[in-house]
Amino acid sequence: MKRLLALFFLLLLFLVIGLPSLLARGCRPGKESAALTPPALDLAPIASPVGEVMITVYLPTEERVMTLGLEEYLVGVVCAEMPAAFAPEALKAQAVSARTYTVNQLRAFGGSGCDRHPAADVCTESTHCQAWLGAEEVLAAWPAGEAAGNWQKVRDAVAATAGEVITYRGELIDAVFHSHCGGHTENSEDAWSTVVPYLRGVPCNFCRGTRWSETVHEFTGDQFARAMAEYVAAVPVSAAGRPLLGGTERTPTGRLKSVTIAGETVTGRDLRAALNLPSTNVTWEVADDKVVFTVKGHGHGVGLCQYGADGMARQGKTYREILEYYYTGIEVSLLPST
Ligand SMILES: [Zn+2]
Ligand SMILES: [Zn+2]
Repeated sequence: MKRLLALFFLLLLFLVIGLPSLLARGCRPGKESAALTPPALDLAPIASPVGEVMITVYLPTEERVMTLGLEEYLVGVVCAEMPAAFAPEALKAQAVSARTYTVNQLRAFGGSGCDRHPAADVCTESTHCQAWLGAEEVLAAWPAGEAAGNWQKVRDAVAATAGEVITYRGELIDAVFHSHCGGHTENSEDAWSTVVPYLRGVPCNFCRGTRWSETVHEFTGDQFARAMAEYVAAVPVSAAGRPLLGGTERTPTGRLKSVTIAGETVTGRDLRAALNLPSTNVTWEVADDKVVFTVKGHGHGVGLCQYGADGMARQGKTYREILEYYYTGIEVSLLPST
């Protein structure tokens, strides 16, 4: 009887203390994971009128190659390359531009692939091939309330243009783009060295009054001297007595080709890199112990102006009109069917 009573008490103890705590423990992870459940992103294949094209992509952070559909890959590229807040027609223009760039590299279409990671068509290093964001990175980068909607907006832009690329006289173009042209895009030979017939500078008022239209960058004499040390042996920390920056050469659109700093010639591109300026479209003032740069635009200025594309889209222009404006004499064509 005593043993039975003891057992009964033990059972009672378990029912009163043990069971609820077990249940609570059992429930907690469930509740937490429910709270952390990310919004569902649509990852279904995107239909293309030219059939499915596959691409191999090297992921440097995971040190592996993944294979996926070209159109699904492009959703991640557009997410990485253009703000999802931009107008749908601008996102479509970016999607066609990115598809053209990508197909140029695809081995299946005669491209040479990524030369840094030979096992893949492209890598996701923005400084080498093309920036790309996977679904997980998108969810981490965007506010939870906006991620699914942004993703869908970009997916719609890619799907609406599936299989479309930009050609010039039947050949895929080098579809370069930049963030903000500062008012006029640049001829290819003025930014780099070769004349490309479809990369002609065009006036662009469509990006006026936006984020990068004009930015001001201030340096003390000491900061300036330190930043330029790689290019100029001895920058005087004070400009007193003689011009610190002089002897400029500019492209027809006003971008800086070269400038003489303390007697040495520095290219506009080197100046931009050394001071981390958004573009080479710079003017400056030297006052007291300060150098103040005023910069128009963001990026090299060649090809599609992204902020301009958004401005055109908001004025009712279609993605084809946008592409035809920034790439001279081109056509939007379908890839050959696979
Ligand atoms: Zn690469
Ligand atoms: Zn522009």
